[in-house]
Amino acid sequence: MKAPAFDYVRVSSVNEAIALLQTHGDDAKILAGGQTVMATLNMRLSNPAVLVDISPIAALKRIAVQGNTLHVGALVTHSEIEASGVIREHAPLLSMAVPHIAHKAIRNMGTWGGSLAYADPAAEWPACAIALNATLVAQGPQGVRKIPANQFFLDLYTTALAADELLIDVEIPIRTPQQVVAFNELARRHGDYAIAGIAACAQREGEVLRDPRFVFFAVASTPFQATKAQAVVNGKVLTNSVVDEAVNALRGELEPLADLTSSSATKLHLSTVLLQRAIHALSAGH
Ligand SMILES: Cc1cc2nc3c(=O)[nH]c(=O)nc-3n(C[C@H](O)[C@H](O)[C@H](O)COP(=O)(O)OP(=O)(O)OC[C@H]3O[C@@H](n4cnc5c(N)ncnc54)[C@H](O)[C@@H]3O)c2cc1C
Repeated sequence: MKAPAFDYVRVSSVNEAIALLQTHGDDAKILAGGQTVMATLNMRLSNPAVLVDISPIAALKRIAVQGNTLHVGALVTHSEIEASGVIREHAPLLSMAVPHIAHKAIRNMGTWGGSLAYADPAAEWPACAIALNATLVAQGPQGVRKIPANQFFLDLYTTALAADELLIDVEIPIRTPQQVVAFNELARRHGDYAIAGIAACAQREGEVLRDPRFVFFAVASTPFQATKAQAVVNGKVLTNSVVDEAVNALRGELEPLADLTSSSATKLHLSTVLLQRAIHALSAGH
């Protein structure tokens, strides 16, 4: 199918983009890498009057460390994350996750900010952002505000961004020497969206994991942080019985949404497998 007719405006600053969002309200849509927007237009699932192309805004393309914070700008592409030594050093969870996102051609165009703003519950980046305790930086007519990742994803394809706000940057605490991370997903074919996935992070002290974060994706309408399973693991020496207890806690707190190919029971079973693998990977110190 072909996209419906729309106006197209290419902007070179955040302020220009915000002004257009204010003028056009719900009739405007941001275009970043276009890997989701163009598909929804072509399938006539959305019908904006004007597309605001933010891809020329150089200020949103930086990967930089300032003090103890890694900044990843909204227009950084998935491929740039994949190639970045700075990200491998300071946020290795992102380097582990990125090969699972679609295929190379899509990763070359699609952006980190576009994925976070779109808030697909099966996407990898929202779960990673929560696992890494990231803060999302939004800019609107009133200025800049910061939103913790665990408060950003409100519902299916729904975020805390206002209609006239742009996601401009993400702040990630840089890796501490004790930080261990794990990422895993189960998909029908490599590059497909996951049936179930996990992004995990913890501080390892000897045989003990502290402050573990287990964030599942593709199982609910938003990323799902398994707080009960986290509490079981936190501060304990990891024995088989602790892992079993964490799996039972997950069964008690997660009731996955079925999708076209997988039932809720299948997703729950896969999530328990992913949790066990993540705990073992974290305790092995990756
Ligand atoms: C075949 C295929 C397979 C895919 N597989 C995966 C996968 O396995 N995992 C995965 O995570 N993704 C997957 N994707 C999606 C891909 O990662 C997209 O790149 C991503 O979802 C959107 O990024 P984008 O830059 O292309 O955003 P766009 O398509 O340009 O925009 C997406 C949405 O976000 C809004 N938006 C974009 N940037 C901003 C911003 N800075 N501030 C506010 N709003 C903004 C847009 O208005 C739009 O609503 C796949 C896509 C395709 C076509």
